[in-house]
Amino acid sequence: MKCRHCHETLNLSFIDLGSAPPSNAYLTPEQLHVPEKWFPLRVLVCTNCWLVQTEDFANATELFDENYAYFSSFSQTWLTHAERYVTNAIDRFSLNSESYVVEVAANDGYLLQYFKSRDIPCLGIEPTKSTANAAREKGLEIVEKFFGVQLARELVEQGKQADLMVANNVLAHVPDINVFLSGFAILLKPQGVVTFEFPHLLKLVKENQFDTIYHEHFSYLSLTAVKHIFAANNLSIFDVEEHPTHGGSLRVFAQRSDSGSHSSTNRVSDLLHREIQAGLLSANFYSGFQKRAERVKDDFLAFLLEAKRQKKVVAGYGAAAKGNTLLNYSGIRPDLLSFVVDRNPAKQGKFLPGSRIPIVAEESIKKMRPDYVVVLPWNLKTEIVNQLDYVRAWGGQFVTAVPKLEVTS
Ligand SMILES: [Zn+2]
Repeated sequence: MKCRHCHETLNLSFIDLGSAPPSNAYLTPEQLHVPEKWFPLRVLVCTNCWLVQTEDFANATELFDENYAYFSSFSQTWLTHAERYVTNAIDRFSLNSESYVVEVAANDGYLLQYFKSRDIPCLGIEPTKSTANAAREKGLEIVEKFFGVQLARELVEQGKQADLMVANNVLAHVPDINVFLSGFAILLKPQGVVTFEFPHLLKLVKENQFDTIYHEHFSYLSLTAVKHIFAANNLSIFDVEEHPTHGGSLRVFAQRSDSGSHSSTNRVSDLLHREIQAGLLSANFYSGFQKRAERVKDDFLAFLLEAKRQKKVVAGYGAAAKGNTLLNYSGIRPDLLSFVVDRNPAKQGKFLPGSRIPIVAEESIKKMRPDYVVVLPWNLKTEIVNQLDYVRAWGGQFVTAVPKLEVTS
């Protein structure tokens, strides 16, 4: 396979997670009688541009389930993060009622709602119907399309150009990173700014976050790789921030390459330097990852087997993509983890893809009084543990598997 950015042949393996069904293909009771499609899940590294990327395979278009949608507003932590971003951006870039903000992957309006409430004109781009509709219910204008060069040109022809563009947790999800990124330089005003947030590869490796790897995630990004790929698509990075969201994310600030409005901060050079120090430009950095993922899997399985022998009740919390990667890679089935709770009513009554563990409402925790609750989205652990504080009343404990097995009472 060739690199999705620079077209170099890919020879270095980062991790092979075997095969897995699409992580968001939740099953209805009827679908339990039908075989599932499993696809290879392997990640490769380009030693030319250092883009870490999932391997292509046949029939990739079968992956995406139109019925499923992730609603950002289900997480309070994420809403707080979005609101703070809006306040800071308005101050830093002097945005007002004359400005124009465009968010790509606007989801259910979790972020744009705060621009709207500050009377700043904005537009959301969101191809998923159900989340787009939820955003419209918040009074937001949404274009229901995929973003790229073509849509950027259409919007410019309609007289729209952005002072600020936002793209959170979407860069890793686009198969054609070049076509996607080129659209930003087109839609931005000459002095405009775009910010991107994405999980940081350095954190992924250091914290064993192999469970953030799934088919819908095409790229795993470092600042080093992103800087190079942005430059090839007429964007130049002038600032970067590190945030704890999604296990450790970067927020990069970029401008058009033909604009010199913002000078580059020390934070950019410092982080690039830290990435080099960590070994990110050498094959060794990537090649040890597989063994560490196996260790996490073995420890988690050993814990569940022991809990089963002791006849403990084990529940999971959070029917999210990263949970599915962990459960399927570890080969866990309902005999080891009897049910998973999720707040999203659209998932309740369904089953996790692959592991076929039933998804239920939170009431089941109160009814079943589990001895252990495995928090699958470990990035939201604090929020979830606070929400489920009552399990301590019967001696229930919380378990996370990543970065290493941890049981907290
Ligand atoms: Zn490359």
